[in-house]
Amino acid sequence: MQNNHSRSLAEADPEIYAAIQNETRRQNEGLELIASENFVSEAVLEAAGSVFTNKYAEGYPGKRYYGGCEFTDVVESLAIQRAKDLFSAEHVNVQPHSGSQANMAVYLTACQHGDTVLGMDLSHGGHLTHGHPLNFSGKSYKVVAYGVRREDETIDYEQMERLANEHKPKLVVCGASAYSRVIDFERIAAIAHSVGALVMADIAHIAGMVATGLHPSPVPHCDFVTTTTHKTLRGPRAGLIMCKEQFAKDLDRNLFPGIQGGPLVHIIAAKAVSFKEALQPEFKTYQQQILKNAKALAEAIGDAGFRIVSGGTDNHVFLVDVFSKGITGREAEKALEAAIITVNKNAIPFDTNPPMKASGVRIGAPAVTTRGMGEAEMKQIARMIADVLQAPEDDSVRQRVKTQVKELTARFPLYANRLQGATASAD
Ligand SMILES: *Cc1c(COP(=O)(O)O)cnc(C)c1O
Repeated sequence: MQNNHSRSLAEADPEIYAAIQNETRRQNEGLELIASENFVSEAVLEAAGSVFTNKYAEGYPGKRYYGGCEFTDVVESLAIQRAKDLFSAEHVNVQPHSGSQANMAVYLTACQHGDTVLGMDLSHGGHLTHGHPLNFSGKSYKVVAYGVRREDETIDYEQMERLANEHKPKLVVCGASAYSRVIDFERIAAIAHSVGALVMADIAHIAGMVATGLHPSPVPHCDFVTTTTHKTLRGPRAGLIMCKEQFAKDLDRNLFPGIQGGPLVHIIAAKAVSFKEALQPEFKTYQQQILKNAKALAEAIGDAGFRIVSGGTDNHVFLVDVFSKGITGREAEKALEAAIITVNKNAIPFDTNPPMKASGVRIGAPAVTTRGMGEAEMKQIARMIADVLQAPEDDSVRQRVKTQVKELTARFPLYANRLQGATASAD
């Protein structure tokens, strides 16, 4: 047993080992433009793969239901302090397993089953957990949705205010998964508070920019702020909640024991490492480069004749209206995938295609920026995307672009020390 227990993964489970090697190679060779993805550092990976995966630690630092938590307390306390420093938050909970669970804990704290919630329409850039009918949020609460204006595809704050006055929600939810413009959290909080509602800002996508002062922070204005830690924040796959001190006790109770059991201590350790990274000056430079890259990429794709939703981007992400050139988002996603360029199809505001087809693709710069690419590479990437999308059925174009992608990514190696030669290329 002892012997088997200490075998390497390659020995113990060759199938899973090979899949991990292939995935490492896929991430290294391809162009990752999914706006919600990023590449964590070796230090974050090491913490996520640590022996803290073995530890049960229900409760919070100093108040645990299990023994042996002295080092867990070190990890969680550091994670909390670093997150507070990063966002200037009054209270922080670092235990959410995901962004969705962070949001669920806030709903449980801010309202009762059946209450009215005002959230952003998913098809206008919101998230499933902001009131989609198939999600707990849509099933447990009466959801009223605001959206963007037809003219400029930016958030319709006047509509939001009108709906808030009309429906008197208990909670207003803001933040988005596919919105490329600055969000006026101060204005939204004022609207919510004027009708007696609480307000939650979900900064899952833009947390890195908020942490570095490159997007106005919701923390001073909003009662609750949630985020994922794995998008622009570049930490492990998980969530984080911030709130005003007056909600701290309730919030902590609603997360554990409300909806979670034991925390993932190895992931909290990895979060702490990523927060330390995010507190360094280089992280702000990284976020600034994301903004430059997203702008350069959107402009170059626009110059190639594609309509960019809202005309451009202020952050890390933008939507390309590929249906303006006669192909659906699904077709565009598939054609680009064949050229090892990864994007996701996405509805555009007032979309005339059903969600499974969609008229747009969502493109984000965080992952390619982590590799060290700059504006010159963005121009190259835009050319490749335009070439594929202008001949989406032409396999020779895809193969040519695929070769160009491999040449480009080879100049910006990723996890090279993790790649061993043995397994076949995932061609
Ligand atoms: C990604 C995202 C989430 C959910 O994160 P998961 O960790 O996938 O549950 C929540 N809200 C927004 C706005 C997001 O973009």
